[in-house]
Amino acid sequence: MEINQRINKIFNKNQGLNAECIEYPKTILIEITNLCNSNCIFCANSKMTRKKGFINKNFCFSILKQAYDLGTREVGFYTTGEPLLNKDLPNFINYAKKIGYNYIYITTNGILANYNNIKNLYDNGLDSIKFSINAIDKNTYYNVHNVDVFDKVIENLKEIYLHKKIDNLNLKVYVSYIATKYTNVDHLTIKNFFKNMCDNIIVVNVRNQSGMMPEIPELLCNDSATDNIQSKRILPCYYTFKNFIVTKEGYLTACCTDFNNYLAYSDLKKEDLKTAWNNNYIKRLRLMQLENNLGKSLCNNCINNTREMPFPLRAELATPINKDIFKISDEKILNFINKMEGKMELVNIFNKRRENTNIVKDRHDVQPGEYRISVHIWILNEDKMLIQQRIFTTKKFPGLWSQTAGGVEKDESSLQACKRECLEELGLNVSDDEITYVGSYTRVRDIVDIFLVETKIDINKLTLQNDEVNAVKLVSFNEFEQMIKNNEVVPSINPSYEYFKNYINEFKGKE
Ligand code: SF4
Ligand code: SF4
Repeated sequence: MEINQRINKIFNKNQGLNAECIEYPKTILIEITNLCNSNCIFCANSKMTRKKGFINKNFCFSILKQAYDLGTREVGFYTTGEPLLNKDLPNFINYAKKIGYNYIYITTNGILANYNNIKNLYDNGLDSIKFSINAIDKNTYYNVHNVDVFDKVIENLKEIYLHKKIDNLNLKVYVSYIATKYTNVDHLTIKNFFKNMCDNIIVVNVRNQSGMMPEIPELLCNDSATDNIQSKRILPCYYTFKNFIVTKEGYLTACCTDFNNYLAYSDLKKEDLKTAWNNNYIKRLRLMQLENNLGKSLCNNCINNTREMPFPLRAELATPINKDIFKISDEKILNFINKMEGKMELVNIFNKRRENTNIVKDRHDVQPGEYRISVHIWILNEDKMLIQQRIFTTKKFPGLWSQTAGGVEKDESSLQACKRECLEELGLNVSDDEITYVGSYTRVRDIVDIFLVETKIDINKLTLQNDEVNAVKLVSFNEFEQMIKNNEVVPSINPSYEYFKNYINEFKGKE
């Protein structure tokens, strides 16, 4: 089964379920460690109050055997931590393969996934490895993962995939990309980046981590990011009804992102797996899910994104959550947003009918069929236009002349952008009364709003924006047209000038 189908299974509606599950799961997930050597902005690993460490080796063997005897045939050695940190992983894989598991997989951040390590796991029986890589450039990777290892992780992935091809390894190599509204460059770019490094890549929208990161939907979600995969968990939850999930303490839990054991329902050191699967605690939770009556469970926070302090399913198995996480937004996320917003120029995306699509993107990522808004501002001082010269070190049209212009920022109106650009580029404060909206026209990636500003200017009192504007001058229409003929003017503004001149000639003063 391909990775997309596997993941879609999790988000598809499960029919005909009862609180008592007669069937035992086909899949077991085992948290062989809750330690991690990364610190991803969207992950609640750092909010874990449980002790960090590794699963007991003999306990893990015993659980693998118990599950196998109940009919389980797939095992994933990961939930909330980085599995390659556990030195016993090759032994676990070896044992699982030996007793008959037919699909053994891991998800890793890839830092320790060099070819030798993964070949060793493959030789012991690993069937599939999924790299979790959530950026396609070094800087963004650092901002998202908080570790500076992008080159190393990509090198590891490439080397494994190369060996897979050359040595004909029967190993599936996947990449998952958790997209946020700051890192969803666009689907095709992400897929193209990874296409020669793996068998398949899956892009999934960031989620609230079982309600442990309640700020995520508001601050980071981008609903256009998914691979036709539902970004929200749905009830009844796949994990609660279809998976054995074992924590490193030896507890059976209903959820693979149960960072503090709030959904743990059995201590498997005291109860066998078969009995635990339908004990009264989990039957109660399943019933709550079936009736969509989640009370104050962690599932309620996950499904409804509430910020309430949840009640654990079994208090004696949970470690208390710090209640502040439901009150204040995670500092890691806020820092990330600051960094990314500083780097990006966010704009609202419109369609060709100038309808706001509610998508927000970096202005450089606007795709065919998408439009941002730009403003062209023609400033008139009596019968002369104020024009400005671009700095000579700029890549586009260095030293050429144009009107004042700029892009409309996220959630800004064109009028606000007009006033802001006058202030930023020229130090010119203009009032609403001095501004006339002249019209708009559509270009390939933007819709241009043209404004006329009529004001008194003392050129010597202007403050030019050093990194954009080299000089300014006042010119007549004739002088400007001569400059156009002499190729001294940015050529792409010609339609805007014609539009503006037409307004001046045909309509100005005739109202
Ligand atoms: S998402 Fe995975 S790699 Fe990132 S911090 Fe969480 S456990 Fe570690
Ligand atoms: S918190 Fe509950 S609903 Fe959400 S993923 Fe976990 S088990 Fe499923």
